[in-house]
Amino acid sequence: MKNIVFLLCCCANLFYAQQTDYVDFTEVKAVLAFSQMKVDSTVFNSYQIKFEVLKQTDSVYLDAINMKFSNVSLNKSKVKFKNDGKKLIIYHGFKASKTYTLNFLFFTSPKKAMYFIDWNNEDAVTSSYSDTFRNSPEKKQIWTQGQGKYTSHWLPSIDDMNDKIEFDISCVAPKGYEVISNGKMVSKRETPTYNLWEFDMEKPMSSYLVALVIGKYSKNVEYSKSGIPLEMYYYPEDSLKFEPTYRYTKQMFDFLEAEIGVPYPWQNYKQVPVKDFLYAGMENTSATIFADSFVIDSIAFADKNYVNVNAHELAHQWFGDLVTETSGTHHWLQEGFATYYALLAERDIFGEHYYYWQLYEYAQELLNQDRAGGSTSLLDPKSSSTTFYKKGAWVLHLLRERVGEKAFKAAVKNYLKKYAFKNVETENFITEVEKVSGEDLTDFVKLWLKNKVFNYDEVLNSLKKSAYMQEYLMVDCEVYTSKCSDYLTSGISDEAKIKVISQIPNQIRKEDFKNSLKVRQAIARNVSKIPLQLKTEYESLLNDESYVTIETALFNLWQNFPQERQKYFEKTKDIQGFSDKNVRMLWLALQLVSPDFEDKNKREYFNALTRYTSPQYGFEVRQNAFQYLHQIQACKDVCKKHLKQATKHHNWRFQKFAKALIEKETP
Ligand SMILES: [Zn+2]
Repeated sequence: MKNIVFLLCCCANLFYAQQTDYVDFTEVKAVLAFSQMKVDSTVFNSYQIKFEVLKQTDSVYLDAINMKFSNVSLNKSKVKFKNDGKKLIIYHGFKASKTYTLNFLFFTSPKKAMYFIDWNNEDAVTSSYSDTFRNSPEKKQIWTQGQGKYTSHWLPSIDDMNDKIEFDISCVAPKGYEVISNGKMVSKRETPTYNLWEFDMEKPMSSYLVALVIGKYSKNVEYSKSGIPLEMYYYPEDSLKFEPTYRYTKQMFDFLEAEIGVPYPWQNYKQVPVKDFLYAGMENTSATIFADSFVIDSIAFADKNYVNVNAHELAHQWFGDLVTETSGTHHWLQEGFATYYALLAERDIFGEHYYYWQLYEYAQELLNQDRAGGSTSLLDPKSSSTTFYKKGAWVLHLLRERVGEKAFKAAVKNYLKKYAFKNVETENFITEVEKVSGEDLTDFVKLWLKNKVFNYDEVLNSLKKSAYMQEYLMVDCEVYTSKCSDYLTSGISDEAKIKVISQIPNQIRKEDFKNSLKVRQAIARNVSKIPLQLKTEYESLLNDESYVTIETALFNLWQNFPQERQKYFEKTKDIQGFSDKNVRMLWLALQLVSPDFEDKNKREYFNALTRYTSPQYGFEVRQNAFQYLHQIQACKDVCKKHLKQATKHHNWRFQKFAKALIEKETP
């Protein structure tokens, strides 16, 4: 998953002296009961945990934030316990080599880690816009996010990644809602108002990977070559978006299983989109949750798709879920590997050029970080995501070049098999590579894992092994000006052409528009002052199957040719754009600021744009609407009210955006 810092795990460990040394928790069976889906809490959940005591002790604990407990029993007898608001501590003369079963009921109303979406939207029906909410996008959902937040906010568990437990989650949910959790759904018992869903895991996992989603979904199931069910969930109204959203899922699954050389470790693989998610995706064991902004139509696919996140979270099922870091120091063993293997899966689909292009882009990001003085060691738990993800991926690319593909693959396989369902450190991986390859990697580890600096020269040498990258690096209109007019009609790569366009935007000619969708998009982005002789060609950009191109071209045409605005509005009036409605929102904003146009409709357009600020929409839509209303100084009462609500949103990025905008709105 993206952008996570994990420092807290280390601190918790130090403070509470390694419970993993004297207790091994093995199996949890929990039943969570949700009442009328109105209140954001659960009622009378039951819980059973089994554990083995390794060393004699007089207490054991579970992490449990702000919960209430009753009927606490140990091996079916009443037992002394304490609930300090953060932990449930059980007092007993625990003996070594004995196994125990702890049972209790618990009640929780989580403030974090479990989110109740659209549960209490007060203005859902009361607002003056209730009429227009007939096709409301409101989504009643419950979903969880354990990494960086702690599962112990909604389920008693262990905040330490080093204790792996088999979690079997059951859930009582109202009829009409689907429930998704880790492992295999083994039964669904129905009553007139509720269903009881029971899930079974066969293998253990760290607590942060436990997940639960409740919502209204349809699903399609495909099977991998190896027979694993791939369950792909989607909103019932999104059946046409299913194919573009989940494109290449089976191909990537089959590829990764073969490439990694170790069978997929879990019973099935589920993917579920949710509203207002905190990150792009999260690799919960056998149940990836991802942001529903990745649910896309086939036009959006060209510019924004789920392929990379899909592959990344899938790769985590091995790197992160099967073998898990012992602490944040080894975070790259999860993120670097997931980023690298996602890239390999994409290479299998999009080819070698794509692979090198992504590596080149990662290198540029790392170079910029380095120049800004932001480089850190890959083994520094405080490193940026750029370091963990992209430097991590580069390290694996270079290591594979160094020891050769055969040794690299054998080492990865040995590493995963040896540490399956256990925790790992960097040395464990390096040792396996050294063993198979017979090479001493001390210098490599020092340069790439321990050192802070990003060694761009070596990276560049590796990139130059690709003829395609050589061409890209060579094409340069700032250095060789004479050839430049011909580049755009030559056979060089799209990426090289895009580079040329950014360097000489004022030398674009009519024939340059005959290029691919991507190159035409670069023209839209770089040519904002449109010469009259290019008007017809430029207008043809509005026909492109790309929401980025359409949005950019609409704005530039609107600005360059005011007398033609009506024509451009007419042409784009039915286009929504990405799930954040980028084209529609621009269209409304431009209508509002165009003098003389459709004055009679302006009230309607203003209402429409304001409506998109409502909590019923996903935060990406709302963010766009707030932005535009702010820009055209039209964030009035309803918009202001919604903006104030947004400052309390659970998504910290959106919350931060709203707070900053409020500052600007009230000088
Ligand atoms: Zn990740």
